[in-house]
This record gives sequence, structure tokens and C-alpha cells, in this order.
Amino acid sequence: MTIFNFSAGPAVLPKEVLQQAQAEFLDWHGTGMSVMEMSHRGKEFMSIAAQAEADLRELMNIPKNYKTLFLQGGAHLQFSMIPLNLLRGKLSADYVNTGEWSKKAMDEAKKFCYVNEVASNADKKASYVPDFKSWKLDKDAAYVHYTTNETIGGVEFSWVPDVGKVPLVADMSSNILSRPYDVSKFGLIYAGAQKNIGPAGLALVIVREDLLGHAPKGLPTMLDFKVHADADSMYNTPPTYGMYMAGLVFQWLKKNGGVAQMEKANIAKAKLLYDTIDASNGFYHCPVNKPDRSRMNVPFTTQDAAVDAEFIKQAEARGLLQLKGHRLTGGMRASIYNAMTMAGVQALADFMGEFARRKG
Ligand SMILES: *Cc1c(COP(=O)(O)O)cnc(C)c1O
Repeated sequence: MTIFNFSAGPAVLPKEVLQQAQAEFLDWHGTGMSVMEMSHRGKEFMSIAAQAEADLRELMNIPKNYKTLFLQGGAHLQFSMIPLNLLRGKLSADYVNTGEWSKKAMDEAKKFCYVNEVASNADKKASYVPDFKSWKLDKDAAYVHYTTNETIGGVEFSWVPDVGKVPLVADMSSNILSRPYDVSKFGLIYAGAQKNIGPAGLALVIVREDLLGHAPKGLPTMLDFKVHADADSMYNTPPTYGMYMAGLVFQWLKKNGGVAQMEKANIAKAKLLYDTIDASNGFYHCPVNKPDRSRMNVPFTTQDAAVDAEFIKQAEARGLLQLKGHRLTGGMRASIYNAMTMAGVQALADFMGEFARRKG
């Protein structure tokens, strides 16, 4: 049976990447060593790291005045590193609240500064992106933080806010590399790797150089972006295997037409699922405002918990795995990141249609 994995993260990786990693597992490029066994300062791993960075810069068209950092601690550590490094003596930061991940980022930032909630979608169960015209931005804020894709709620921005001179900071954990972004519009972009990049244990940070070097005195060394930037992410031992895997994913992306081609495929995949939901005569329900529906995480429910449970069980028997919704939302969630194939999405859409005909 063919297995399709719809996990929200850690998530599916391209089969070709896993096969290449398998082929190189014991002996990377004739060195007789596994990547896991290499010194991070040896020429072999240095070349892997340099290639991964160069490929990422090419894929995202990252301008020269930005550093790319390969760190640990997941997106969660960025929830604190960002205020610690970017407050630069200011007392407050602007946060847009679009759901669970925004709220987590805000809660952590509150330990370091006043958090100004610029806009919120809490009035409608976090189901939409607040209209930019309603945002209460503070021109003196240290930065503006938002979450480009809410992995749990399935709410995604289809536009980038123009916040003027205040640095724009984005948590792109679940949609980085899934659509083109103009990096120059951002002060800082961060992402945990385990959704659209590679294995868990690696976090990416893309940061404009002028935002480095403002850490307060006494900040632990490992929390200072500048330390990592100056050391090319090799201040301490970086997550070497994760970086290698990310590098293979970047190569795979380049071979498959880059981010522009990914976006095309992601639009088609998401459309198939949302069309299936919308054509089900109300059997399936997606709570998200249509223009703000995520291309990466598709939440849906039959609005009957027992039927949802049956759906998940029968889907599993068909090899359609990890469709259970987040514990906070219930229902189902199909995560269809870059590595999810159209064949997988088609198999899910077919099953959804069949299940609805039987149950509806
Ligand atoms: C998964 C996720 C996180 C948390 O990532 P960790 O690597 O577990 O810290 C943060 N933000 C978003 C948008 C996510 O999807």
C-alpha cells in the first residue's frame, strides 16, 4: 500500500531526498564517513554547509546584506531571541495575533517588553487575516512580528504588510519556500525546519545585517545573533545532519523549478482539497475565511466528532496518515507541504469524496 503522510510536522520529506541520504549514509562522496561522523570544521562538512547556504540564498534570492543562520532550539527559541536581539533599547514591539503560534510568540515576548497587539482575529475563532487598514501600528515599535502561516488554524497571509521603516519579522515555519517572498521587505525571517525544510533540530534565521550587534550586555553568548553570524553558524557544533538534509532538500527544490514552481504545485494541491470541501454540500466544513485559507495546512471537519474519528480511522486504513486535527481544534488537518505530491492529495480527495457519499 502506498503511504501518504499528512503530518503537520515533523512532516513528509521528498522521497528522492531520503533515498539520496540513504545511498550516502555510510559513505559520503567516497570519504568513508557518514555525514553524522564528520567534524563540523573539516573540509567535507564545511563544503556541505557552504553549498546549503548558497542554494538557500539562490532559492530565496536573499540580498547580500542579509545573514543566513543555521541554529538550534526550533522556532520556539526565536520567540525569545528576537526580542532579546531586536529591541535595541526600545520598550515595545508590535505583534499581529492570527492564532496559536502568534500567541505563543507574544507570550514569550511579554517577558522582555511591552507587546502591542496590532490586530487580532480572536473575535472569530482565529479564522481570518485582519484587514491591514485596521492594524494599530506603533511607529516607535522595535519591530512588527507576524506569522505568515498559522499551522494550527490554517490561516495564511496572501500579502506582505508594508510597515514602513519598522523592521518586519516573520515566523515562516510552515510556509517558507512554498511561495516566493521578497526578502528585502523583512528585517528578519525565521523558521523551524521540520515542516518545509528538513528534520527537526534545525532552525533557519535570515536577518538583515544592521539588526545584528544590538544585544544587551550580559546576554548569554548562544542567544546573540551576532555571535552566530560572525562564526558562520559554527560558533558551537551546529546541527550537522539537519543542515546536510536541508541542503539535499534545497538541491531537490532547485531541480524541481525552485520556489516559483513549488508555488504553482501548492496552489493546485490546495485547490483540489478546498474544492472537494466546498463541493460536499456542507458535509465537510473548513472554518477559514476563503481568501485566507492556507495552502499548507487544510483544516476541515464533518462537525460531528464521531464521524471525524471514523474518517481518520478509515483514511489510515487506506494509507492516508496523520490527518487528525490539532488537539486544540479537533477535526481533521491535511498538511500538504512542498514534499507532499499531487498523487497524495488526489488520493485524499478521492477518499473524501467516497466517504461523503457513503456517510452524507
Ligand atoms: C511548528 C511551528 C512552530 C514551533 O516550532 P518548534 O521548532 O517546535 O519550536 C512555531 N511557529 C510555527 C508557525 C510553527 O508551525
